[in-house]
Amino acid sequence: MTSLPPGGTVFPMADGEAASLEERAGAVRDEIFGREIFVRGVIEVSNYCRQNCDYCGMRRGNRSLKRFRLELENLRELVRHGLPDVITDLNIQTGEDTVGDREIVLPLLETIRQEKAQLGISVCLGTLDHKLYDELKAAGASYYIIKMETGNRDHYREVHAPGTFDQRLAAIRYLAASGWAVSSGFILGLPGQTRARIEETLELLGELPLAGASVSPFIAGEQTPFAQEPPGNFELTIECIARLRLRNPSYIIPAVSALNLVNADGYLRALRAGANLATINLTPSTNRGDYLLYKRDRVIMHEQRVRAAIAQAGCAISKVSIAETLRQREVLSRVSAIRAVA
Ligand code: SAM
Repeated sequence: MTSLPPGGTVFPMADGEAASLEERAGAVRDEIFGREIFVRGVIEVSNYCRQNCDYCGMRRGNRSLKRFRLELENLRELVRHGLPDVITDLNIQTGEDTVGDREIVLPLLETIRQEKAQLGISVCLGTLDHKLYDELKAAGASYYIIKMETGNRDHYREVHAPGTFDQRLAAIRYLAASGWAVSSGFILGLPGQTRARIEETLELLGELPLAGASVSPFIAGEQTPFAQEPPGNFELTIECIARLRLRNPSYIIPAVSALNLVNADGYLRALRAGANLATINLTPSTNRGDYLLYKRDRVIMHEQRVRAAIAQAGCAISKVSIAETLRQREVLSRVSAIRAVA
């Protein structure tokens, strides 16, 4: 498979240009969001998955993985009494597991809505049917994370990403049209990636009806066809985060925790390059090891690490949720549209 060589930049850059790209991206983020960073908790509720992505440790073909679904009552307890004060949003994530969605995620969302109404709710549950998206929204979620993984149709097929590329894009469009804020994204360094394919992906991430997007470095998953492949290039990941911010000033762009696996300053560098969201993993530690996107030693971002990285980047923690920020933005744009017509 022809892959991107582990070095260089998406576009050729002169000395110092990469640093200035990151600085400009950080300045654009500051202009739109102040120096404020959202902090979102993530709970990985189930690692059952019906998909068989070549890059992901949770693929259904990984028979050595111990599968789990967390207990609804334990999750309710966590939501009621175990959430750190610093988070304004909560992301519920699973493999693609419609049983888990119905038996755990939907009732959990109802509990959050009733008992923690101020929390913004994101979900990352895969490509589902429209009815289930609608039910999740009715239960209180408003932000759907669905990554395209690569913006090139052939590449998507080659790595056996979920369903087909067209289905994934149709899902993004349906979600956005039915009132969800949608975040997508891609894996930098996925085997078979080329510079042209990265550029194509960045273009598409700017054209789709998105509220946010992410760049995650590829990290080889154990027990996957890509187990021996090298990790995604760190500098290129940071460059893509900066380019994403410069092209899409208003996007919510996370500093993904996998960045710290490829570089000790990964989180900090992403925040400096324009990222504006940090995540804290709240999956109970007994199950974390089995939520296997890649290796068992993935870096778990704890509250203190997140606070330290945000402070070191010279930023502050947002007190307003992503969900509320986007709601206010929509109200403002409706008001200006009405004024323009009047
Ligand atoms: N199954 C759902 C879906 O397809 O959207 C959500 C869960 S899935 C495990 C979450 C994300 O993990 C994927 O969208 C993918 O980008 C990321 N991921 C999986 N394996 C990865 C790897 N080896 N390196 C980096 N990111 C990976």
